[in-house]
Amino acid sequence: MPPTRSRRVRLALLAALCLFAWFVGRPVGFLAWTAWNDSRGVRVIPEGATGDVSGLEDTAVRGIHVIPLEHEAAVSALRELLDQAAEQDLQVSIAGARHSMGGHTVIPDGLVADMTEHRKLVFDEAGGFLTAGSGATWHDVLMFLDPLGLSVEVMQSNDSFTVGGSLSVNCHGWQHGREPVASTVQSLRLMLADGSVVECSRDQNPELFSLVLGGYGLFGVILDATLRVVPNERYQQAGTVLPAEDLGATFLARAADPTVGLAIGRLSIDPDDFLGEAILRVLKVDPSDDPLPAIEPSGNRRLRRTIFRGSVGSDYGKGLRWALERRFGAQAGGASTRNAELAEPVHVYANGDLSATELLFEAFVPHAELDAYRRAIRPILERGPCDLLNVTVRDVREDQTSFLRYATQDVFSLVMLFHLERTAEADAELAALTRKLIDAALDRGGSYYLPYRLHATRAQFERAYPMAQEFFAAKLRFDPSGRFQNRFYRTYGR
Ligand SMILES: Cc1cc2nc3c(=O)[nH]c(=O)nc-3n(C[C@H](O)[C@H](O)[C@H](O)COP(=O)(O)OP(=O)(O)OC[C@H]3O[C@@H](n4cnc5c(N)ncnc54)[C@H](O)[C@@H]3O)c2cc1C
Repeated sequence: MPPTRSRRVRLALLAALCLFAWFVGRPVGFLAWTAWNDSRGVRVIPEGATGDVSGLEDTAVRGIHVIPLEHEAAVSALRELLDQAAEQDLQVSIAGARHSMGGHTVIPDGLVADMTEHRKLVFDEAGGFLTAGSGATWHDVLMFLDPLGLSVEVMQSNDSFTVGGSLSVNCHGWQHGREPVASTVQSLRLMLADGSVVECSRDQNPELFSLVLGGYGLFGVILDATLRVVPNERYQQAGTVLPAEDLGATFLARAADPTVGLAIGRLSIDPDDFLGEAILRVLKVDPSDDPLPAIEPSGNRRLRRTIFRGSVGSDYGKGLRWALERRFGAQAGGASTRNAELAEPVHVYANGDLSATELLFEAFVPHAELDAYRRAIRPILERGPCDLLNVTVRDVREDQTSFLRYATQDVFSLVMLFHLERTAEADAELAALTRKLIDAALDRGGSYYLPYRLHATRAQFERAYPMAQEFFAAKLRFDPSGRFQNRFYRTYGR
């Protein structure tokens, strides 16, 4: 007997309810569950020790000297520290916000110069330059420049890092078509191991200038730096979703448009289309003359965090995140300012599970090699033991300033974020994976970034940085007693 009309209506309603539950109830329930379980733990480094954001580098030290705000007081404090180090034959490491991940701010049983209080900012209106104490974070800088209608020229994609740490790794961001941050530095003041203060620029002490930028704190303490600034701008989002193999060409075509202010790519980590699709997020300058709104936190941080955290350890969460990002993350229309886009702290997405850690790896490949590299690393990452949470792609142009440089030509960078247990075993698994990712970059004429885990073999390091021997020889010329040291130096420099 055929079903009656009312039975058919009931069946249709039930089917609609099931579909609703699947397409709306499941993601909503999943995100609610993620938010409920989201840990916000803050790791405390034990008394008498120092460490970094990896949570894997806690090390006992003889003392941590917090260097004060004002120049004269900072100079005295640093001289005292260096005198103590000389008397007791100790080494000194220099620390900013400690977001490097391989003990770059750590020397066992040594002294730490903590620069985070040395954060004075002065704007020279006549010259149009900002002088920043090396402990100022980009957040401090953006908040200072915003009321002046100005912005940072080159910085990372988050604002939690200090100027000193950023110059010492020679950071780059999503300011496409630009060299790393060293290109924006006019001059800097540096305290050498003997306590003397020298001015460095392209004209004064030019060799030291190029060694200190990207010099990982091995030549002296950057006291302050004078930086070029740019106007703040209003932006309209104009992104696109595309097959991953088209990302390089499309990125460069969009980057050539002078009205594009910021651009960043992202590759899918959805297991159903792993590294197969890309989002190119592009922000175009909106020429309207209306006054710019004051800097304020970009919207929906809580929701964006929950969607991101839901992708940890979950294929469903990864697929859901990609679906939401491709629907809302790239679409045209959203308005913001350059400063609001740059003012994103790392804690928005950061891991708060104290038994785990999240570690970065970054490869650089020549522009023309982006797709070959993507295809080479797909099987390595797919079969790899670590939980890959993110792959962003940025355009970085040939570095004309620093000595130990990663951008020896125009490159795309691929930044990968991994979630793993905070154990030596999990770190060793990531090390093995990283070495494969580095080989794949080196085989394509590329390189890799140095502030993350010290997983590269010495041979890989020397292949990626053929100027390294000369760099370390220069270190000993400027710092013959080897006063400034850290784990990076101990691993590759001796
Ligand atoms: C979540 C996250 C996102 C990131 N995103 C980016 C990105 O988009 N682009 C990018 O390029 N990098 C990125 N990085 C890497 C980051 O740029 C570096 O780790 C940078 O060093 C962080 O600055 P910091 O203040 O934490 O430096 P620290 O880790 O404190 O120090 C880094 C190095 O600089 C030296 N140093 C610090 N201050 C001074 C000083 N005053 N004088 C001399 N030497 C000094 C230290 O000895 C150390 O060798 C990211 C890192 C994290 C954790």
